This record gives sequence, C-alpha cells and structure tokens, in this order.
Amino acid sequence: MRAAVLGRPRGLTIESRPALQPGSGEVVIRVTAAGLCGTDYRIWSGDRPVRYPLVMGHEFVGTVLGTGAGVGDLRAGQRVAVEPNYSCGACPLCREGNRNLCLSRTAVGIDVDGGFAEHARVPARCCWVAPPDIADETLMLTEPSPSWCGRCGAPSRRPASRRPCSAWAASGSSRSRS
Ligand SMILES: [Zn+2]
Ligand SMILES: [Zn+2]
Repeated sequence: MRAAVLGRPRGLTIESRPALQPGSGEVVIRVTAAGLCGTDYRIWSGDRPVRYPLVMGHEFVGTVLGTGAGVGDLRAGQRVAVEPNYSCGACPLCREGNRNLCLSRTAVGIDVDGGFAEHARVPARCCWVAPPDIADETLMLTEPSPSWCGRCGAPSRRPASRRPCSAWAASGSSRSRS
C-alpha cells in the first residue's frame, strides 16, 4: 500500500509499504478521506517533534478491511470514523474510569502511524460505525467536531452507541463555518 511518509522535517515522500495486518484488538481500514489540520503543519515543519519516519494524519475515516483476534463488534465493509487519541487502559486514572485524563495516551498520526495512507491500523475501540447518510468528507470532521460543537452550543457528548456526535449528523458540515 502507498503512504505519505514524513522522513524528516519538511521531507514528505510517497512510499510503498507492506500490507498492514491487524493485531489482537485491532482493525485495518481503507482510508477514504483524511483532513489536514494545524497540528499536521507543525509536525511537517518540525515545530512539533515526532519520531521519524511517521505517517501523519489523525482526522480520517474509512472502511474496515480486516479485523484482528478478539474484535467482535466490527466487520469488514463497515464504514467508520476513527477516534485518534486513545488511553492506555492500565494506569490508575484509566482503571478508575477517567480514561480522558490518561497521561499515557497515544495519538494516531503523531505517536504512531496514521491516516495519510491507503490503509491504516488502529485499535478497534477507536472505530465508530458511521450512519450511511453521512458523506465521507463530513464524517471526516468527527475528530475536530468537539471544538465547534462547543462554539455553536450543540451537545458534544458522545451517545452510548458506536455513532459519532449526533449534533453534526443532523446539521451537516455547514454549521462548522459559523
Ligand atoms: Zn487536528
Ligand atoms: Zn491510562
């Protein structure tokens, strides 16, 4: 598969890489849309240090290609939005239920390879099955949407089901420009 690989600051090349295999609890997705944000620019320019080589991209969506052992609630062909920051699940804060406060979070596209590639490998628990009526380009806004949900006053709490924020599902991407 092809990937945009950052080998050094301002050094981005398209490379062929071996096919990704999902490990236990992981899925491999075929990336269908990826957003570019200011963090990506700072990583590309070298202002934000990362380990090289790195496949950037933390705002992306795609279709499940394959699932690893122990993944029971996702299957090939499902379209998902990726939650790119995930907690360790093992530290005291995680164990007491405060995963959002975890000090050992992993950021896809920053700490590990992300979505500026044909395929990406992520933990299954970071994949949220998308309603069929949301276009990939809109679904891609799942990761940055909490910031504009806060600005426009729409609820930003995530429903219990594996679905992205219902606020923008109802409103489409136009409200992000308000
Ligand atoms: Zn971002
Ligand atoms: Zn933790």
